Amino acid sequence: MNESVKKTIEALEKHNMKSIYFENPDSAVNYLMENINNEATVGIGGSVTVNSLGIPQKLIERGNKVYFHWLESTPEGMDNAREKAQKTDVYLSGTNALTEDGKLVNIDGLGNRVASMIFGPKKVFILCGVNKITKDLDAAMRRVKDNAYKNARRLKLDTPCAHTGKCSDCSSPQRMCSVTTIIERRPYKTEFEVIIIGKELGY
Ligand code: SF4
Repeated sequence: MNESVKKTIEALEKHNMKSIYFENPDSAVNYLMENINNEATVGIGGSVTVNSLGIPQKLIERGNKVYFHWLESTPEGMDNAREKAQKTDVYLSGTNALTEDGKLVNIDGLGNRVASMIFGPKKVFILCGVNKITKDLDAAMRRVKDNAYKNARRLKLDTPCAHTGKCSDCSSPQRMCSVTTIIERRPYKTEFEVIIIGKELGY
């Protein structure tokens, strides 16, 4: 583990958020699966990191009830999954940035993902590739805006950043960063654990 990861873990622990590091994504996924009860209901926020690790499929295959709107094919199904995900035993998400002084920064268009990270599910696991770690809050805010265009393109949104690769603080109807949250300490009704993985994951 490098100095930056070490600092980040120490800061998260000081902020009452459990944190663990795995060099290897497979070990991180195994740890996660071992720490989610087979009977648990699991909500998943829109996360390239969680999805790219094959976690939704693994949970479904072993019998967990999973609410993940990316698995739905209709707007109604997606809204239903987002709503149900807010009242689950476990919620999984990535994060847009994680600072070395132990803060998580996230943007959201609808707000369902950031809301569920804070209140509703009993336990939240955040999966974070080392590429998401930033020195401080200013760098985290820059990172979030500088990388937003990648998600805009992935989602085929008609936002300025999708076209130019740069944020122009738009008022687009499809603006995907209407809400920005900074988690500075563990939300006190939610168990909270950050799994840091020694690999580039997500945007
Ligand atoms: S404010 Fe608009 S242009 Fe900037 S990142 Fe968000 S959606 Fe893109």
